[in-house]
Amino acid sequence: MVGAGLSGAVIGRHLAMLGHKVTVVDARGHVAGNCHTERDPATGVMVHVYGPHIFHTDDAEVWDYVNRFQTFMPYKNRVKTISRGEVFSLPVNLHTINQFFRATMGPAEAKAFIESKADTSITDPQTFEEQALRFVGRDLYEAFFKGYTQKQWGVSPTELPASILKRLPVRFNYDDNYFFHKFQGMPRDGYTDMVEKILDHDGITVQLNTRFDRAQAGEWDHVFYSGPLDGYYGYDRGRLGYRTLDFERFTHQGDYQGTAVMNYGEVAVPWTRITEHKHFSPWETHEGSVLYREFSRLCGPEDIPYYPIRLTAEQSLLRDYVARAETETGVTFVGRLGTYRYLDMDVTIREALDCARRFEATLATGERMPAFTVKA
Ligand SMILES: Cc1cc2nc3c(=O)[nH]c(=O)nc-3n(C[C@H](O)[C@H](O)[C@H](O)COP(=O)(O)OP(=O)(O)OC[C@H]3O[C@@H](n4cnc5c(N)ncnc54)[C@H](O)[C@@H]3O)c2cc1C
Repeated sequence: MVGAGLSGAVIGRHLAMLGHKVTVVDARGHVAGNCHTERDPATGVMVHVYGPHIFHTDDAEVWDYVNRFQTFMPYKNRVKTISRGEVFSLPVNLHTINQFFRATMGPAEAKAFIESKADTSITDPQTFEEQALRFVGRDLYEAFFKGYTQKQWGVSPTELPASILKRLPVRFNYDDNYFFHKFQGMPRDGYTDMVEKILDHDGITVQLNTRFDRAQAGEWDHVFYSGPLDGYYGYDRGRLGYRTLDFERFTHQGDYQGTAVMNYGEVAVPWTRITEHKHFSPWETHEGSVLYREFSRLCGPEDIPYYPIRLTAEQSLLRDYVARAETETGVTFVGRLGTYRYLDMDVTIREALDCARRFEATLATGERMPAFTVKA
């Protein structure tokens, strides 16, 4: 199992429960991959080291699974944003609309109003900007979508595909819960504690600070690889594009911003958001506070890859690596890096469970375990 993130831990646990001997290696000095949390020794705040993670899912099996290893505390993600010198509620909802237009509209009235603002001359939106203008019109687009998207992706929204904005990003009620999912929460003792418990099995050996190299693949009956697909081949045909994040950490005595996530929609402010980590554990009390100012930029060779870009150029390179990987035997590429996709934690766990069951089935039938159990 290459990688001790959720993918490696969940597959490893499943196979260990079946009686297999599993070795999990990770190049980092901790388990849990990008979900890693640790307590700041000075303030006691649980810090989401690689950026904030909120668990949300409609998948009852996945929800039951994580609850076996951790007590989940109620948590709703309520995001605020600063735009034109005011604080607004996100996702854009009736409160945002009424505040922005200095109005007191009800749902039906607001819906008709936003429809009247939408640019109906755009019949076949091709770009993110056209799609947003088609949905919400110029005023809301410029205040809430344009600057943030440009900072997040590092290119103008006129160069991004319309597909990024799949549906109307506006609610005509006062629901400010960021996620729609039925089950939402935060692990009481953090994600790293949860992953340590998933990995706590007699059949599993964890080796941290251990980098896996493709040359070692033959030493194992089967390798599940949750590292970067292009990295498996030493990036010899080029690098799949990613965005990375820089976190400027700072501390504060007391409450800095009164909420967990404050977005900054304007291009003039270089960071995309400030996250205040103690508010991700609202059941705890801490006098001190730990905050991250978040900056997004293109990922370089030494940076941590966060968000796959997946535009046209990356798609063709990806197809190349996938075709090559499909000729491998004895290795399966899994997780967000192995399949070069953005995956929420619940999807990662779902795919890991399915992958482990597929492996179990191939052992029973003698069929070959494929290089991918999902489409990369
Ligand atoms: C900024 C950010 C915020 C997010 N917020 C949320 C959220 O709020 N809610 C949500 O559901 N999801 C969120 N996610 C997604 C979540 O991080 C992923 O679903 C999850 O981390 C995927 O787990 P994984 O095991 O596939 O990959 P990872 O967590 O990346 O684990 C892969 C591991 O493999 C190791 N590795 C790689 N190559 C090698 C090698 N050659 N040898 C040894 N080890 C290696 C790495 O060190 C790493 O620890 C967020 C992601 C990002 C980037």
